[in-house]
Amino acid sequence: MPLIERAQELQPALVRLRRALHQDPELGLDLPRTQEKVLAALDGLPLEITLGKGLSSVTAVLRGGRSGGAVLLRGDMDALPVTERSGVDYASRVPGAMHACGHDLHTAGLVGAATLLSERREQLHGDVVFMFQPGEEGHNGASAMIEEGVLDAAGKPLDAAYALHVAANTLPGGWVATRPGTVTSASDQLSVTVRGKGGHGSTPYSAKDPIPVACEIVTAIQTWVTRRFDLFDPAVVTVGTFHAGTTQNVIPETATFKATVRSYSETAHERLIEGLPRLVRGIAEAHGIEAEVTYDVMYPVTVNAPDETALALETARDLFGEDQVWQAPNASNGSEDFAFVLRRVPGAMLMVGAAPEGADVAHAPMNHSPLAVFDDTVLARQAALLTALAERRLAQGAAA
Ligand SMILES: [Zn+2]
Repeated sequence: MPLIERAQELQPALVRLRRALHQDPELGLDLPRTQEKVLAALDGLPLEITLGKGLSSVTAVLRGGRSGGAVLLRGDMDALPVTERSGVDYASRVPGAMHACGHDLHTAGLVGAATLLSERREQLHGDVVFMFQPGEEGHNGASAMIEEGVLDAAGKPLDAAYALHVAANTLPGGWVATRPGTVTSASDQLSVTVRGKGGHGSTPYSAKDPIPVACEIVTAIQTWVTRRFDLFDPAVVTVGTFHAGTTQNVIPETATFKATVRSYSETAHERLIEGLPRLVRGIAEAHGIEAEVTYDVMYPVTVNAPDETALALETARDLFGEDQVWQAPNASNGSEDFAFVLRRVPGAMLMVGAAPEGADVAHAPMNHSPLAVFDDTVLARQAALLTALAERRLAQGAAA
C-alpha cells in the first residue's frame, strides 16, 4: 500500500492522541502525563525504549531489517503558559497551559512515523531514533537529551536528523516549507545593572548618576548594531525593560535594563557575544562607573545542511506535489533548541502549515497566541513525510 494511503488510515488514531495531548498540556521538562500517553501509543511496536532521567523524555530505537546507518527524527512535546481561547471543542482543560505552539501535533506525528516505520522495517536500511523531547520552550530539553545520550542511542553515529514544526498561520494547511542554511534565529538575553553612587538630585557631582550612563548605553547599542553588522546578516537588539530610581530629586544607586538579542548566522552571533558586553562595560568605564553585564546565550541559530534540505524538499514534493512545497526565502525570527542537534548532526528542520481549511493565513492567529488553531488533518502528512525522509536517507547512506 502506498505510504500516504497507509498514513491516512492511521489518521483517526493520531487525531485521538493529538486531542488527548491537547486537552492535557504540560509545561517544561517534566511531562509525566504526556510521557504516559506516548508510551501507551508506542506500546506493541518493535522499539527499544529508554526514558529520560532528568526529564520525561522518551527515546525509541527501531532496528531496520537491512544493514545501514542511523537517522534521528525529533518531536517536541511541551506546551506554553498560555490560557487557551481558541474555541476548539478539544481545548485545554488545564488553566494556564496550552499547546499554543502545536507541539501536540509534533508528538502525535512522530508516533505516526514510528508506527509506519515499524510496519515497513523489513525494508529499512538501518536504524531510526525517535526523540520525544520535553522542554523546547526555553528549557533547552534538546541539550538535556543530548547529555543523556540521545545522539548515541542507536549505538552508531547518526547520518542525519530531521524535525518538523507546524505553523498556525503564514503557510496554507498541509504546505511544507524550508530552506538551506539558517532557518531560525539565535536568541540571547542581555541583562545590565549600571552601578553608581546615590545622592541628592541637586548635587550630581557628589554622586555617580547611573541613569544618563544607562541611557547612553541603550542608544549606543543601536548605533553599534547599525555600524558593525552586514545589512544582509543583521542583528536585532530590543531593550524590553528599563528601571531606575524612585523619585525626581534622588539619584539612585542603580539603573537596570534587559534586552533580547537575535541574530541569523554564527558570525553575527559570535560578534554579539563578544562585542555587546564590551560595549556596555566600556561606556560605563568612560564615565568612571561600573556596569555588571550578564549575557545569556539561549539558543544558537538553527542551520539546515544543504544536502539534507534538498532531500527533504524533494521528498515533500514527491509526496505532496510541487505546488505545495516552498523553499522559504528567509529564516524565521523564532528560535529552536533543535539547533543543538543540528550542530552535531547534519539535518533539516521543516515547517508544515497547519492552518484550518479556509483560514486567512496572512492574518490568522500565530503560534504562541491563545487564539491559535492547528488543524489535525495535517497529521497523516507529518507521519508520511518523516517516514519517507528516514527511509530515503537510510537508503541513500546504504547505497553510498
Ligand atoms: Zn514550537
